[in-house]
Amino acid sequence: METFGDDLETMRRVPLADEHVAAICEIGRECSYAAGEMVAELGSPMDRFVYVLEGEIEVVDPWSRERLMDSSLGPTQFMGEIGFLNAGANILPMRAAKPTRTLEVPRLAMLELMARVPELSDHVIRVFSARRRRQFELNNSAVKLIGADQDAAVQKVEQFLSRNRIPFQSLDLDGSDSASIAACTLAENRPGVILGKDRVLDDPTPRKVAQYLHLDLDVCRETLYDVLIVGGGPAGVAAAVYAGSEGLCALAIEDTAIGGQAGTSSRIENYMGFPTGISGADLVYRGQIQAMKFGTRFAMPRTVEALVRRDDGTFCARLDDGDEVCAKSVLVATGVQYRRLPIDRLEELEGAGVFYAATDMEARFCRNTEAVVIGGGNSAGQAAMYLSRTAKHVHVVVRGDSLAASMSNYLTRRLEADPGITIHYNTQVTALKGESHLEGVTFDGPAGTHDMATRALFVMIGAAMLWVGWFGFNGGSQLAADGGAAMAITVTHISAATASLTWALWERIKFGKASLVGIVTGTIAGLASITPASGFVGPWAALLIGAVAGILCQEAVVLIRNKAKIDDTLDVFAVHGVGGIFGTIMIAALGAGSWAAQLGSLAIVGVYTSVVTVVLVLVCKAITPLRVSKEVEVNGLDLSVHGERAYDLSS
Ligand SMILES: Cc1cc2nc3c(=O)[nH]c(=O)nc-3n(C[C@H](O)[C@H](O)[C@H](O)COP(=O)(O)OP(=O)(O)OC[C@H]3O[C@@H](n4cnc5c(N)ncnc54)[C@H](O)[C@@H]3O)c2cc1C
Repeated sequence: METFGDDLETMRRVPLADEHVAAICEIGRECSYAAGEMVAELGSPMDRFVYVLEGEIEVVDPWSRERLMDSSLGPTQFMGEIGFLNAGANILPMRAAKPTRTLEVPRLAMLELMARVPELSDHVIRVFSARRRRQFELNNSAVKLIGADQDAAVQKVEQFLSRNRIPFQSLDLDGSDSASIAACTLAENRPGVILGKDRVLDDPTPRKVAQYLHLDLDVCRETLYDVLIVGGGPAGVAAAVYAGSEGLCALAIEDTAIGGQAGTSSRIENYMGFPTGISGADLVYRGQIQAMKFGTRFAMPRTVEALVRRDDGTFCARLDDGDEVCAKSVLVATGVQYRRLPIDRLEELEGAGVFYAATDMEARFCRNTEAVVIGGGNSAGQAAMYLSRTAKHVHVVVRGDSLAASMSNYLTRRLEADPGITIHYNTQVTALKGESHLEGVTFDGPAGTHDMATRALFVMIGAAMLWVGWFGFNGGSQLAADGGAAMAITVTHISAATASLTWALWERIKFGKASLVGIVTGTIAGLASITPASGFVGPWAALLIGAVAGILCQEAVVLIRNKAKIDDTLDVFAVHGVGGIFGTIMIAALGAGSWAAQLGSLAIVGVYTSVVTVVLVLVCKAITPLRVSKEVEVNGLDLSVHGERAYDLSS
């Protein structure tokens, strides 16, 4: 339910003030429509603001083409809903019910006027939001989903629409009401997505629906933006508000749903200004409207896959299907990506019983089933509490024997007191059952292995950071969004700093002097070594790993170079490779993983890397010479490029 807009039924109708109408007159032009003429067709862009001077405009049922509602728009009222701000599509057709005169203003000119006249802006946005809310209440959208509970593709579309607050109608395949029967007949009694009157989408995807609703990039690809914001979580949306309010031409690109992680939270209580809490989706939606009001555009679902800087200093983002969007500056707010569990067929069943968020939509799927939540952090706790309202029973599966270290105390107490929730300690989910939809899971716990029938599994095991730079990546790749995150960052710093010191110390002992390149390379040795282990070890182990890495990697550099008689280019292997292998082995040595898993993974990666390296070398060699000049080769790259002998201080 849309909670931002007022209830249109009870909302007091206030005509636009005379001075606001006069301002619209100055930038608009008059248009006339004969009775029965369409003012806006279904799916056409909301590219103009329409104010009624005379006559009547009615909402048309996209299916029957009859008048849809008793109420209509008359003189002093205006057309449109919240999608106008983002140049969305008309999702309800509008028609002149009698000869009608309107005043019409192009969208951008209207936004500009709204920015200048805040009272007008508030008035228009209040009405637009109320109309969006009304569309949810009427449940008669032109986008109809059939059988979302039986088809993963339709369910993905439902998730996209629901998380982006776009009205849609969800119908059961076996529904007996006339709307369900008509839609199911059109879709040949198969799960599907219907757009408008009669278009059944082939292979439905969120992207195709977004294209229909004008939410993707088609209309704004050509522009050079002042700011391109990657990610539509709270950080991205906040940036979108500030960029827009400063008059910058900004575009936010989001690959899933505006709201990010926060959009999956049913209640945020620690955000200033909301003493009784607010759902994450509501919070970010308010920001999105605020940003759109200032002219910032949102495009979704699109993924930014790469960024390049052009010679003129501008940045171009390459999107998932090769499209390019360019901007003078880029803000990356990509937050985190959910961790997956190493269980067979998990990916296959995602959207078909396996979920990573517990919102209204997922809760509906739990109505007649037991729900299983994996994880012992606050996200898992909040999800369990939320799902216990709808699910038959909620089972929280925790690897450890307590929640004390990972979950807030108040939440643990709420879980323990809830009769609808059982916490399974020292337990893991080891297998998933079901063909096209999840039907059950296997638990492996203190009482042995047993199966449980369930159609809903929630994986809430934290997240891993994206795009946080090389150093951040080393620490970030192992993060969970809880106390483990802080620990992984801490151990990464400890290992990097310690390796830097031991590298310098070892050089000093051997050669009487430490080098700057050596100190920096020591940091990298510490980072490379802790990377595989950062999610598993504590500070003392990190100290040990870093201390050994500084010496081990330095010796590896010397050994490989002296033995293979190749210059410093092989540092990359001696530091990153040897460091990474060492860190992987230390996971087993410190008892945080099995020897078989660590050594086995090293063997697989080793073979893969060797083969790919040989292929790459051969390909590169065929294209470009691989050797530097003889002089540089003799002097060494360290001396030629950095002006300092890196590791051979004795020479
Ligand atoms: C269940 C739950 C409950 C929470 N409760 C609270 C709470 O009560 N209080 C609190 O303070 N915090 C809470 N949090 C944490 C809070 O939601 C996060 O700290 C916040 O969302 C982080 O915002 P962000 O914008 O940095 O990143 P995110 O919210 O992670 O958003 C990043 C966005 O970027 C998008 N993206 C990623 N890569 C790309 C790409 N290449 N191209 C385009 N888009 C991309 C993602 O799809 C995502 O939407 C909760 C989190 C969860 C999951």
